[in-house]
Amino acid sequence: MIKITSLALLAAAYLCSSAWAGMGGKTDLMKAQPVFEREKGANFRFEGFVGERIKNNQRNWLLTAPLSNPSMLQMFRDRDKPQSRDLLPWSGEFAGKYLISAVQGYRITKDRQLRDFLRGFVAELISTQAEDGYLGVWPNESRLFKPGPWDLWSVYHVMLGLYLWSEETGDEAALKACLKSADLICKMALDEGKRTIEADSYEMNQSCIHIFTLLYEKTGNERYLRMAKEIEKDWQTPPSGDYIRTALAGKAFYQCPKPRWESLPGLQAIGELYYITGDEKYRTAFINLWKSIAKYDRHNTGGFSSGEQAVGNPYDPGAIETCCTVAWMALTVDMLRLTGDSRAADELELTFFNGGIGAQDMNGRWWTYNTPMDGVRRASAHDIVFQAMPGSPELNCCSCNAPRILGCLSDWAVMKSDDGVVLNYYGESVFEVPIGSSGRVKIAQKTDYPRDGYIRLIITPDSQRQFALRLRIPCWSKKTVVKLNKEPIKDVTSGTYLVIERTWKQGDEVEIEFDMSPRFWVKEPESEKKASIYLGPILMAYDQRYDVYEPHNLPAIQPKSKVEKAPDWVYMSPPMMLRRFSTTDGRKITLCDFASAGMGGNKYVSWLNVEGLKPVPFDIDSPFRGAE
Ligand SMILES: [Zn+2]
Repeated sequence: MIKITSLALLAAAYLCSSAWAGMGGKTDLMKAQPVFEREKGANFRFEGFVGERIKNNQRNWLLTAPLSNPSMLQMFRDRDKPQSRDLLPWSGEFAGKYLISAVQGYRITKDRQLRDFLRGFVAELISTQAEDGYLGVWPNESRLFKPGPWDLWSVYHVMLGLYLWSEETGDEAALKACLKSADLICKMALDEGKRTIEADSYEMNQSCIHIFTLLYEKTGNERYLRMAKEIEKDWQTPPSGDYIRTALAGKAFYQCPKPRWESLPGLQAIGELYYITGDEKYRTAFINLWKSIAKYDRHNTGGFSSGEQAVGNPYDPGAIETCCTVAWMALTVDMLRLTGDSRAADELELTFFNGGIGAQDMNGRWWTYNTPMDGVRRASAHDIVFQAMPGSPELNCCSCNAPRILGCLSDWAVMKSDDGVVLNYYGESVFEVPIGSSGRVKIAQKTDYPRDGYIRLIITPDSQRQFALRLRIPCWSKKTVVKLNKEPIKDVTSGTYLVIERTWKQGDEVEIEFDMSPRFWVKEPESEKKASIYLGPILMAYDQRYDVYEPHNLPAIQPKSKVEKAPDWVYMSPPMMLRRFSTTDGRKITLCDFASAGMGGNKYVSWLNVEGLKPVPFDIDSPFRGAE
């Protein structure tokens, strides 16, 4: 029997579904459950250019960063010595940010060398923990609730890294160290009366609420929930962020008192508080905040922030900091878990292929601090060199954090629903995922996507298996053709999941053809006559490396232009794709994918001259503001 349905939104949440274990949480503690969840048992093989990016990231960063930057851990050991280095308020975050991204990277490659390397890193990190549980880099007089350093923020990253590592490997010492650190913070707050508002740097330090929600879900220890609730109270004390009341009043994230990016792990905690309490106010607040960022502060590149914060204008030319884009992706993974709304996965794809990997050196040695819509790409080691220190020349907030852009593929590329598999990522790959209690299914993608729109899925269960396969039908694909074993499927709706529920057998094939015709996002005000061009999920950009025009004096592109393949780039460091468009004066212009723009150091432009189009207001159903 074949049952095929399209769903715009799945049910709000499946109450007390036994199929779930949350982020490792105890289901009996949770009053609500995510609609989709990370598939912990998945094996991934990403091929093509994404596979190369993942390999390069592992080889040239994850396996080398702590060796080339020994101060990453040395600064913990030196905390009580007269300091030989000038710590930044956030220096203690580097080890945690590195570890979070490295665990995610390990989930993807399951590489033995990386696992052994990280085991050593984690053991050394734990060995620096103070007797009382402190896991930071500051001397006694500056720790945790003391104003100045962003110490609760930094320790949060270390704790989250240890937590994720313990979840992945079962390393009990890592979990114990994380809990010991949590217990110290709880003792100071719950027994000694310290409040996070005393620590100043409100949005940074209060974002440690996230780890306390996760640890409550994991252990059921009421003190962790009380700690989270105390921070929720502190949010209401000016000048803290007051996120929940702001969102429930119908205001956008940029209108809250603390719209900097460091607030985002705090917003993630709001989603977790919904699972813990079942209180709809948390769900509503979370969704409102997420939607408002998508509407007002997510740029055409999929990147988030203008000058490190939300400002309510997606055209603002302020720096699009890589850390902010990482935090936006983490928040969007949680939006997808919470709602099962395929448009959240569309956002992840947009960010990933454009502003996300556009922040990475294709050889994996560095990442940007700022990946502007128009401009040049600089290594973060140039842009924020002030963060480099003796013993850690390559460390800064973004270099440590950015590999999460690749690593979080393990969170969203393929997920599980209560009845099967959710396929969000398209591109050359093989994913192997558990089915039921003992089965497995291999999903191989034969495709050149996103260079073109044709994808062939070869589904190979270990034996005949009944499950629902959810296929993301992107909101931008106006007409999508899907065939199951050569038979066309009816009623394929963009912006939803196509659900194919059946008994799958070896050799089953699904073919997908997405509509990759050009789409335009017209920049406002309209009088600027600028627009962004998308082919499928890919934002196109002009880079002088590939053509002769001055980036700021480009000929106008004909909106009805036929898109042609440009000749292949025959030199080193080829772009992911090159296409030619016609100009209104009868010439041709070569554009590349945004992620490849600027890799040779040339100036690039993603707001192109396109005439004769009217802007379309943002709508969550039309997040690309797609003009005809
Ligand atoms: Zn950063």
